[in-house]
Parts: sequence; structure tokens; C-alpha cells
Amino acid sequence: MAVVVMKFGGTSVADTERIERVALHVKREVDAGNQVAVVVSAMAGTTNQLVEWVREISPLYDAREYDSIVASGEQITAGLLAVALQSKGVSARSWQGWQIPIHTDETHGAARISHIDGARLRARLGQGEVAVVTGFQGVEPEHNRIATLGRGGSDTSAVAVAVALDADVCDIYTDVDGVYTTDPRIVPEAQRIPRISYEEMLEMASLGSKVLQTRSVELAMVYDMRLRVLSSFAEPEQLPAADVGTLENTGTTVCSEDEIVESEVVSGIAYAKDEAKVTILKLEDKPGVAARIFGPLAEAAINVDMIVQNVTPDGAHTDLTFTVQSTELPRALEVIEQVKRDLGNFEVRSSDDVVKISIIGIGMRSHAGVAAQMFKTLSHKGINILAISTSEIKVSVLINADYAELAVRALHEVYGLDAQ
Ligand code: ASP
Ligand code: MG
Repeated sequence: MAVVVMKFGGTSVADTERIERVALHVKREVDAGNQVAVVVSAMAGTTNQLVEWVREISPLYDAREYDSIVASGEQITAGLLAVALQSKGVSARSWQGWQIPIHTDETHGAARISHIDGARLRARLGQGEVAVVTGFQGVEPEHNRIATLGRGGSDTSAVAVAVALDADVCDIYTDVDGVYTTDPRIVPEAQRIPRISYEEMLEMASLGSKVLQTRSVELAMVYDMRLRVLSSFAEPEQLPAADVGTLENTGTTVCSEDEIVESEVVSGIAYAKDEAKVTILKLEDKPGVAARIFGPLAEAAINVDMIVQNVTPDGAHTDLTFTVQSTELPRALEVIEQVKRDLGNFEVRSSDDVVKISIIGIGMRSHAGVAAQMFKTLSHKGINILAISTSEIKVSVLINADYAELAVRALHEVYGLDAQ
């Protein structure tokens, strides 16, 4: 017997027919003797609609009311799934965040879970009842208000519930059958990755792979909670019940690095289109200048990603290029304009026709020449690199958006990721 948390995203619960199918996946686990908690998203499109309604009424809405409105989508699916389970003879009840309770901090709209008391859920699970939990929401205990975790937050709810229940596995059911070496819409030769480490998955998630919310992977890594990404569109009878093992034939298991015996040097290639580039030309080259630029950006809570600095030929000036999220570009430029007022004459250019392409793999730690091969491959294709950043298990380059697909395809091939 295992304690299993199953999470179903919006497309998996998009209508009542799919909800009935989800019930069959859950029933399979119950019939195998497992204790099951299910975490659900709102039906596909529902949260968007709720957000739109709030904005229609007031662009300067009260974040606490926003939360009470947008959290309602999950309440509907949790109830519907409980009813679907009951009608299939499975004992089940729905749980909203405040009923468990799932406590959060006060950051409405982007709250963090502070504590989950798993006692009540565990007791019910022990009696053979399936707990259907609303994802995306909790309660802020100080003022007793509903709080939501930010878009895509039900992945994080699922991992947090799994940790609170000390579950054996957290299965994330979605509309794809696993994590792929890159986006299969761009590279048809992309392959499903049977096992990937938390660290690699974290990079994939934060660099553009949309399969899991980044925060959920962080949480899983901290608590070593094994995740499996599975397709809810698979026939419910075809998936084996969660037996705490890994499934090499289906899905992707996200686990600790020591459980991965053999891995490629590069496990995956991610791309992010939502980058924008800012270049500051002819900045005076003296101590403290970088701090005068990046300090105010940080104060404005603008995240800077890649940074390149060069000295100009006259030796007295420096050119600085950095990237921010495209949505933050207007704000970043505003901040820079202010800096310009007291830091003198420099020129500012910006563009958001850029993409960041990243190669990711824990194998990089022990192999030399991985980055060099990336640069050589891009140069053979005539692709110019605008900025570079690296970490222990990742190399990212910024290139012109027109070359994104060409670059991803070439790199996928050169690192041996194309399916045979
Ligand atoms: N329903 C929420 C959203 O659309 C949470 C989630 O689906 O993870 O963002
Ligand atoms: Mg999602």
C-alpha cells in the first residue's frame, strides 16, 4: 500500500466527461489498495475568465477579493470530482484550502504556503476516503482570508500536500505524457525523458518548459518528494497503479540525482521567448557604475538575468548589456531613465526580438567542452550570440528571435538527443 497524491491540471478536468475519466484514474489507485489524495485545478479557461471579470470591474482591484474570486474555479472541480468518484462507488469528499487547513502568507495573488496540517486528511485517508483537494489556494490565518498561490499554483499545492501527508509519490497528470528533451512542436525528434533530476527539471521549468510550475519543483527538491509526470489522456487501465517504483515505459520521473544511473551530458534544451535586451552604451567606466544601474533595478523588483560588460576602445567607457523579462522592459527603461538623470550621458537601446536558448544537464559538471560545442554549432549556422550566461549544469545564450527554431534543432541534434 502506498500513499499517493494525484494532481490533475485544467485540460484534464476541462469538462464533465474528462472529470469522469479522472475518476477512473483515481479508482485504479484505490482498487490497488492505495490511499489517495487528489489535487485539482480549475476547468481549463475558468481561471482566465475569472481574472478577466475582476479586471473588467476594476483594474485597481483589492487583491484579497481577487483571491476569493479566482479561487472559486478549483472549488467547482473538487466538488464535481468527489461526486464522480462517489457515483463510481468510491468514498470521497472535497476539501477547500481553509478546511484542511493550508496556511499561507499574506501575499495575495502570489502567496506562499507556510504550513499544512495533514492530520485531518491523513485520518480520512486512513478510513479509505479519497480526499479531493482544491489546488491553487489556501487561507491566510491572520485575517482569515482566502489566498491564491499565483498562476499555475496547483502543482505547488500538490507537492505541498504530498509532503504534508508524507506521500510515497506525487503524480502530476497533464496533457502531455512526460517531459521531453525539447519542445516536440519545434523538433519532432524530441524524446520523452524517462528520468530527470530535480535540479535539471528546475532549470527546464524556469527556462521555459511549461510542464511544471518552477516553485513546485523547488519544493519537491527540498523535501526529496518524487514526482511523476503522466498523461491523464492515457487509458486509465493502461497505467500501472503507483507502486512507488518508477515507470520507465511511460511518463517522466523527477527524482534525486543518485537515482539516475546513466545520463546524457545534455538532457534537454529549453528556450524562453519572454526575454528582452537592454544595452547601455558609453557608460563612464569607474567603480560603482554597475551598482548604480542594477541597484535601482533591484529596488524596483526587476529581475535581471544575463549580463555582459565590455570596455570600449577608448578605455574610458564601458558598454553594458543585460536582459529582463519582456513584460518588465517598460519599467526597466523607466528606471534607467531616472539613473541617467544623475549618472550623465549614456545611450540606451533595447529590443525584445530575442530568445534565450539553454542547454541543461548534470553531466556537464564532469565533461569539458560542452559550451564550446554549443558556440561552434551556432556559429556553423551563422547565428550570432548576443549574451551568454552559465551555471554548473546549464549554458544559456541570447540570440535573435528569428533563429530560435534553427538553433534548437541544431543543438538537439549535436548533443545526440534526436530519436533514432
Ligand atoms: N487554476 C489556476 C491557474 O489557471 C491554477 C492552476 O491551474 O495551476 O493558474
Ligand atoms: Mg499547470
